[in-house]
Amino acid sequence: MPETTHNVDPNEINKFEKLAARWWDPNSEFKPLHDINPLRMDYIDRRSGTRGLKGKKVLDVGCGGGLLSEAMAERGAIVTGIDMGKAPLDVARLHQLESGLDIDYRQVTAEQLAQEQPGSFDVVTCLEMLEHVPDPEAVIAACTTLIRDDGRIFLSTINRNPKAWLFAVIGAEYLLNMLPKGTHEYSKFIRPSEMEAWARHSGLQLTDLTGMSYNPLTREYRLGSDVSVNYLASFSRA
Ligand code: SAH
Repeated sequence: MPETTHNVDPNEINKFEKLAARWWDPNSEFKPLHDINPLRMDYIDRRSGTRGLKGKKVLDVGCGGGLLSEAMAERGAIVTGIDMGKAPLDVARLHQLESGLDIDYRQVTAEQLAQEQPGSFDVVTCLEMLEHVPDPEAVIAACTTLIRDDGRIFLSTINRNPKAWLFAVIGAEYLLNMLPKGTHEYSKFIRPSEMEAWARHSGLQLTDLTGMSYNPLTREYRLGSDVSVNYLASFSRA
């Protein structure tokens, strides 16, 4: 594999390639992403500085079929979406024609883009991707290189503890059948303290940590202080 793609796990990419055609079906395997999209969208918009995302240059790392990229473009951001899966990018490119949006989708890693265009984005998002990557710290470092001095970074992933295992693996994949079995590997989950330390090593400071919790009875997600399973984090340069 070329040097620039060493931090890509082909098995992980393959999981998403197989499902990509159903990306925009809100009742498919991607239902959880559809459900959390408005919540995380508001979170990012509120924390993206004056006027929110409007007019901001945004990079969406691991954009998949484009759920977040499109939502950000709808809010007036100038969006580039990158992913290493070909099928998700094909879906994203087709869907934006339907939506009438103009997003630049590219098959490139964050590390590679960081070499090409350092310091060029106001906002970098990397949501629900770090737990699928061999070296998440290197992705965070690349995201840091990609933002301007006053830029912001938004990351989300799954915490690593017994409750997260129960909810994100056993609950979502085995009991509720929300996700295909094998979607998530417990050992790749990331504690907020680990994410914060990696971000600090690349010169970032944590500006907010918010939980995203799922209530299996109401089948609804909400944002709050409970970061024990899914969480969202904001960073700026220290
Ligand atoms: N961020 C999107 C999609 C999450 S699914 C959302 O939250 O809606 C995870 C995505 O990460 C998949 O599309 C997969 O192809 C992509 N991915 C996994 N490893 C990657 C890597 N190293 N570089 C870029 N994309 C990657």
